[in-house]
Amino acid sequence: MASKISVLGSTGSIGTQTLDVARMHGLEITALTANSNIKLLEKQAREFHPKMVAVSDLGAAAQLKIALRDTDIDVFCGEEGIITAATESNCDTVVNAVVGVAGLVPTLTAIKTGKNIALANKETLVAGGKIVTKAVDSYGVKLYPVDSEHSAIFQCLQGCPPGSLKKLILTASGGSFFGKTRDELENVSIKQALSHPNWEMGAKITVDSATMMNKGLEVIEASWLFNCEDKDIDILIHRESIIHSMIQLKDNAVLAQLGVPDMRIPIQYALTYPNRLPSPTKELDLAELGSMTFYKPDYETFTCLSVCRDALRRGGLYPTVANAANEAAVAMFLREQIRFLDIADIVSDAVSSFTDNKESFTLEDILDADKATRARVSQKYGHNSFD
Ligand code: NDP
Ligand code: MG
Repeated sequence: MASKISVLGSTGSIGTQTLDVARMHGLEITALTANSNIKLLEKQAREFHPKMVAVSDLGAAAQLKIALRDTDIDVFCGEEGIITAATESNCDTVVNAVVGVAGLVPTLTAIKTGKNIALANKETLVAGGKIVTKAVDSYGVKLYPVDSEHSAIFQCLQGCPPGSLKKLILTASGGSFFGKTRDELENVSIKQALSHPNWEMGAKITVDSATMMNKGLEVIEASWLFNCEDKDIDILIHRESIIHSMIQLKDNAVLAQLGVPDMRIPIQYALTYPNRLPSPTKELDLAELGSMTFYKPDYETFTCLSVCRDALRRGGLYPTVANAANEAAVAMFLREQIRFLDIADIVSDAVSSFTDNKESFTLEDILDADKATRARVSQKYGHNSFD
């Protein structure tokens, strides 16, 4: 079980819920980080007294340094600062709750300094799954999934002998636009995309849920975590988000993990594994819920699903490219530079026009492919604007 944790992205949705869990179980916080929200980071630092904090934005870091000058907390800045928080704060476990591929290098560096990882930052595994899982093996550390579906599968797998797994069944709420046709999605607003039926999350993942890119990313994430291929991973729409995912075993027995939709359950399991401790979350009342619904995913409308599956099958740097195009496109959608349906088209275009694939690649290759893809997307669409 973790006892000293460094929380990267502590000011976000997963970060703040991680601190709820830490508060409840008296975990020591050794480092906290943010991109620019220094108001909340200062408050968290004063409550948890970490050895250090880090802020990616240089100007914000300078302001925080002044704000915390009456304390003995060290303030670091930039990407290097986030890496320092992941590696040098004397933690045993790094919770990576950063959004986007910005989480990749800190995760890898933390693994190489012997830290266990509680991973919410799925983009790390999508872009760099091969080198991250290899590093986990080489350095003998543990990587615990925080993403609710992957935590559910991890929980279901406890006690299953090796070789007994037949397939994974990832559940999906369907996001904000379940049941809509492409025509109906033509002019949807940012506000509509950001209203998720079941989960309160950061903006990027909420848009990813609306496009279903999130589930596509999760298929790739699952392939690395559980050593599965695309054909071994099913997606099942389950509107209520009560069953967090399932596994089907060789004898066709299906095991599921259920609970109210509250990320503090998977966050806590990643930090307390293999123990089960009391949780601040609500108990599940199935009689009150009454019924649950299930549907097949709509691959025609939500094309990101097929694009991610295709990228996974092609392998190499294709998932990195899909992820980078999506990050760039979502940022543009949130700045009102492109429309909702453009996101999926941009991801699809990036994957189908990528020609520089490599079967064997380094971290540098991943970062280069990420950068080049973003540059291409921004060159093509960066000057757009809609009122
Ligand atoms: P949020 O946007 O709420 O939080 C992101 C955190 O990362 C914030 O602390 C933010 O700082 C920081 N951050 C943003 N950009 C950078 C950067 N370039 N470098 C360093 N830090 C940065 O996101 P979520 O908490 O929703 O999601 C975090 C990760 O967890 C994502 O990968 C997401 O897919 C995954 N996840 C989230 C779930 C959820 O329920 N929210 C569920 C499952 C997975 P600041 O506040 O200063 O901007
Ligand atoms: Mg998830």
